[in-house]
Amino acid sequence: MKIKCPKCKEAAELADDFSFVRCPHCSLDVTYGEYVRIIIQNDSTYSDILEDYGGSSADSTSSTLDDWEKEAK
Ligand SMILES: [Zn+2]
Repeated sequence: MKIKCPKCKEAAELADDFSFVRCPHCSLDVTYGEYVRIIIQNDSTYSDILEDYGGSSADSTSSTLDDWEKEAK
């Protein structure tokens, strides 16, 4: 699915199984865990995402990302 790149703010690609995040605009190529950490480093507002990710629930992580995308637009 398309997500917002944490580095260049362009459209990046999140693997359907949350295994990686890749951005063709800035050559970002990281695991989903690393992607979450980058977001947190950029804006502490999203620190709650880390707690969701730590729960290792793909569903709760997905909904959090959806909410984040809506607010980003
Ligand atoms: Zn990028």
